[in-house]
Amino acid sequence: MSETTDTIFGKIIRREIKADIVYEDELVLAFKDINAQAPVHIILIPKKPIARLAEAESDDANLLGHLLLTAKHVAEIAGLQTNGYRIVINNGPDGGQTVYHLHIHILGGRQMAWPPG
Ligand code: AMP
Repeated sequence: MSETTDTIFGKIIRREIKADIVYEDELVLAFKDINAQAPVHIILIPKKPIARLAEAESDDANLLGHLLLTAKHVAEIAGLQTNGYRIVINNGPDGGQTVYHLHIHILGGRQMAWPPG
């Protein structure tokens, strides 16, 4: 079901709309968030259109592992390795998810607050 879901992120993958892409490989794509919440705010997505984390399945284990390791790599590319960064996955309405294509937020360049809003 989630395989057929299309979103604005699907359009970015297919280059139907522009994004400021910072990393890409055969499985994932990373681009700058259009409404940045920190000096560095990058969105990292699998090219496979999993709607949200709750819809990932055991077959996606390698992809999810690759996503997390790529988040680390993208954070390093963005210069965040020394001071650190925050990784966020919003899942569903209470999680604040607005785009239903699984994505990781990579946020850095300022001190983060806790608890999150
Ligand atoms: P979430 O609220 O977790 O679903 O996050 C969706 C994120 O996608 C938000 O931070 C938006 O600012 C971001 N976003 C939406 N449309 C675009 C776009 N066209 N290019 C880059 N980021 C986008």
